[in-house]
Amino acid sequence: MIKVILQGHDNYYGIVDVVRLFYGPCREDRENGCVVCDNGPDMTLISAADTSSELPVNRQVKRDLYVRLSEITGITAPWGCLTGIRPTVVACEENFDYRALMDKYFVREDKARLACTCAQLEQQIARKASQKLNVYAGVPFCPGRCAYCSFIAQDVMKHLDRLHDYAKALILEMNTLAPYIDETPGTLYMGGGTPTVFDESDMSAVLGAMREAFRTGEQTEFTVEAGRPDTITEGKLRAMRDNGAGRICINPQTMRDETLRKINRAHTAADVIRTYEMSRKMGFEVINMDLIAGLKYETADDFLESVKKVAELDPENITIHTLYKKRRAGMSRDDVLNTDGRGDVDKAVREAYEYLFNKGYVPYYMYRQKDTELGLENTGFCKPGTHNVYNVAMMSYDSSVLSVGAGAMSKRAFPDGRYERCPNVKDVSLYINEAEQCARKKISFFDLRRSGR
Ligand code: SF4
Repeated sequence: MIKVILQGHDNYYGIVDVVRLFYGPCREDRENGCVVCDNGPDMTLISAADTSSELPVNRQVKRDLYVRLSEITGITAPWGCLTGIRPTVVACEENFDYRALMDKYFVREDKARLACTCAQLEQQIARKASQKLNVYAGVPFCPGRCAYCSFIAQDVMKHLDRLHDYAKALILEMNTLAPYIDETPGTLYMGGGTPTVFDESDMSAVLGAMREAFRTGEQTEFTVEAGRPDTITEGKLRAMRDNGAGRICINPQTMRDETLRKINRAHTAADVIRTYEMSRKMGFEVINMDLIAGLKYETADDFLESVKKVAELDPENITIHTLYKKRRAGMSRDDVLNTDGRGDVDKAVREAYEYLFNKGYVPYYMYRQKDTELGLENTGFCKPGTHNVYNVAMMSYDSSVLSVGAGAMSKRAFPDGRYERCPNVKDVSLYINEAEQCARKKISFFDLRRSGR
């Protein structure tokens, strides 16, 4: 058992993050002033605040512990002692100087450069995002559960019989908000779950209500996360296009049929290609495709093959996720590729990035989630000029997002840098009954006035 005793600081959270990088899950023991991890060798370490350090204490203690554990294990992490979900924030603080990230936080050069490149683009896009309202509509349903899903996977299938009622509730929430919306939002994003789980008629009704309520214009970036190819039909694509959605996401996750079967995705790589071509013919301006690195059953070479197959289709955006594991995912942490060898996911991600750079894609936003192998990140790539503003708005502390749907979280950014959150009820049945109250709560949260339209 490993015990790290905190002295002169209370950054339990940061210490847990660093220990987790090396030894997996661990816990805070605030009563005894320490962090404990049941894996790894028996040892007790002291994490002491050093007031003479150039770094703030919360970062200094993480750095010192990282250095010590790195010496003990011989392991270095690609992001060094940066464990937060937004390394780009630190890159901004360091004025996009990748060497500062390397020197102060032991970030590996490729990651330091990535953070600085993304941070610069993110900053420009976030400026644009903060000038207008951004709108999110959530559809927390899926027709089946992917084995790796850690989001709302159990809930997503539970209420499939309530889809039509859910569509009506979403429309009611948007219609209640409509008289209070006096300017066209900069971005609209319909996400999930899998929004295309609606039948064609509900899909069309919800998108139409979205367009009407928020008065989308030529300039509005309107994205629908079409998600799983097995739910996409020509009729649904037409409904998207006819209601002003110029961007869609088609997410293969992998282009290997064998893996798709094993992770419980009810489509093949051929379905991905067919859906992509159908969408292209339909005239969508931007198509994004998501892939996941680190799936069990796949080597780094397999992953690179998927990246190449997707890039051959020539989508404007490709997003590379690293598999992570939360409590509700069907796969365990050990299902992550090569947990004993460490490095294959890293290799997979590195090679994928290199390939995409060479194909002319640029990284424009990134974030990290807990419990990815080696603390690896998710990165959105785009062909220059085709970035998705909403993806940056949702992460930015300066942008407001008005969200509708069960469990949807709105956030309001204030000019003084503060921001507040306002959640909708999470339970689908409750939401269906309370959609109008959800809208009223947001009218007050955003301090919206009747627009007179
Ligand atoms: S499509 Fe997405 S939200 Fe739905 S089960 Fe799969 S991973 Fe989870």
